[in-house]
Amino acid sequence: MNLAKDDEAKFKKLGISSFLELALLIPHSYEDYTLHSQLIPQKAQLIDATVESVYKAPNSIQISFFSHNLGHTLQGVLFRPKPYMMHQFKVGDRDYYYGVIDCKQGHCSMSMPKKVTKIGKITPKYKTALRSDVMLRLVEKHLTKENLQSEGLNAAMAEEILKLHFPTIELLNTTQLSENALEALKYTELFAYMKLLAGKRRYFQALSSSARDYKEWAESLPFTLTDEQIAAIEDIKTDLQKDVAAKRMVVGDVGSGKTMVILAAAYMMLPQRSILMAPTTILANQLFEEAVKFLPNIKSVLVTNKTKKEDFSGYDFIIGTHALLYRELPNAALVMVDEQHRFGTQQRNMLEKLVMSGEKRPHYLQFSATPIPRTQAMIESAHIDVSLITSTPFTKDIDSQVIHKSDFSELLVHIKAEIAKNNQVLIVYPLVTESEVLEYQSIDEARGYWEKNFSNVYVTHGKDKEKEQVLLDFREQGDILISTTVVEVGISLPRLTTVIIVGAERLGLSTLHQLRGRVSRTGLKGYCFLYTNQNKSERLDEFVRTTSGFDIANLDLKFRKSGDLLKGMQQSGSQFKWVNFVEDEAIVKRVKGDLNI
Ligand code: ADP
Ligand code: MG
Repeated sequence: MNLAKDDEAKFKKLGISSFLELALLIPHSYEDYTLHSQLIPQKAQLIDATVESVYKAPNSIQISFFSHNLGHTLQGVLFRPKPYMMHQFKVGDRDYYYGVIDCKQGHCSMSMPKKVTKIGKITPKYKTALRSDVMLRLVEKHLTKENLQSEGLNAAMAEEILKLHFPTIELLNTTQLSENALEALKYTELFAYMKLLAGKRRYFQALSSSARDYKEWAESLPFTLTDEQIAAIEDIKTDLQKDVAAKRMVVGDVGSGKTMVILAAAYMMLPQRSILMAPTTILANQLFEEAVKFLPNIKSVLVTNKTKKEDFSGYDFIIGTHALLYRELPNAALVMVDEQHRFGTQQRNMLEKLVMSGEKRPHYLQFSATPIPRTQAMIESAHIDVSLITSTPFTKDIDSQVIHKSDFSELLVHIKAEIAKNNQVLIVYPLVTESEVLEYQSIDEARGYWEKNFSNVYVTHGKDKEKEQVLLDFREQGDILISTTVVEVGISLPRLTTVIIVGAERLGLSTLHQLRGRVSRTGLKGYCFLYTNQNKSERLDEFVRTTSGFDIANLDLKFRKSGDLLKGMQQSGSQFKWVNFVEDEAIVKRVKGDLNI
């Protein structure tokens, strides 16, 4: 795109950098300065009229027009007229006037008639950071089929989208966007976005371009890997064999067995070294234990802030918390991050640096337990490869149920029964900020009750410095854990069979899903109770009916769309005005194909 300086400034003001994006800023309305012989009620239109009489009242002017094109009279009304308007209407004058016409009981009126000199044109009106007429000139100058095609858009889509900026009479007579126009907007929106993403992806030479076969290792495991675990491992195997450094995100529901994929990757990388970073000490510990157990012949080491200074070059697999970022580390051919959604931006940036040393780069794999809709994964794939694991190794048997105050005594019976079976219960209370007047108890208000009526009650919350220790103690000795949503972190609590979420309607469905995912991780029968004061919540009812995190990601979108959680949209790709993740998979596929991604 080559623009003159002043046009460049206008593009900048609009926040766009391509003709495609300009095309997407469609007019919000049109002014039709052509003459029609048919009146369309409640629409702004042009009349060719003679002024028959003018009546001036203190706060308004009423003008009687005879409209030649419509063939009858109508009443013009100007409210709070400006002084200059007083002299605009003279009895006997014939001119063109423009305004919204409305008819009641045979009498038609035009509100705020505006005198028009240039007629015969349809003018689009824009609501952008630029004044409408400035925007119009910019569009007229740059929005051409050639320009859109020069950015890769195909002719048919270009033509369709141009119709919206350079409208014909037919377009004006429809009140809704045509199906073709809508499709062109979706297509163009995706095309522009994915092209930009793809353009940002940088490719580097890999430090190592070979992968051992993992089959022998897989056979040594006490279970068979699921098809989706294998598919993800195969994706990674292909990555590791390339001479371009991999950049891949493995997205899998809680409990979908991502650890095995991590271990397989480290195994395939041998004899080259791998590094794995996890967001908490507990998780790093757990991963380390699993590495020792399932990769007995690999030399693994755990690095936390308690680890002494040491030369790690004797190890094949370095596992740690963000303490890794502050250590001298030997080169690694593969860097992995587990639960990457838990790291702050700053830590992720630091890690990027760790990965980004020298001309050649390690392969880079991220693992996330935040399910995203398949369509979104396809869109993301423009700048990062994505593998999805949508199923869990064993189907969890979890009963989910929405409960109310009246169910409390039954709930107590259930809790006692589970504890009697040596199982554990988690009760999640809402995060309370001071500005909120909440209709639920806070942790501090509630803990007394539980501590009085039960033994082995543990309490922790997000700001608790001891929370890792509390979780560890609870894992060994606890019956009931009372917490805020902190336990979202992937620590495994094998005896946990029940989660009770207080004020469930206040949480996003994906958060609820993460919490439910803590339960019954080892195949025990699980229970999830959503405690709410709301009489009816369609959102919670639908949540209860499904267990797949990917379905829930879609549900979240559905309810956000219906205005339930409007603000949350950003998180799932609100950059789209037209594209809908739930419905537009086919268009995403087409764009992907057309862009060769
Ligand atoms: P996440 O995806 O949440 O990290 P994990 O890797 O922690 O899940 O796996 C959850 C549990 O499932 C672990 O106890 C793990 O040993 C077990 N697991 C993983 N893969 C399989 C499999 N293919 N068959 C049976 N159990 C499995
Ligand atoms: Mg995990």
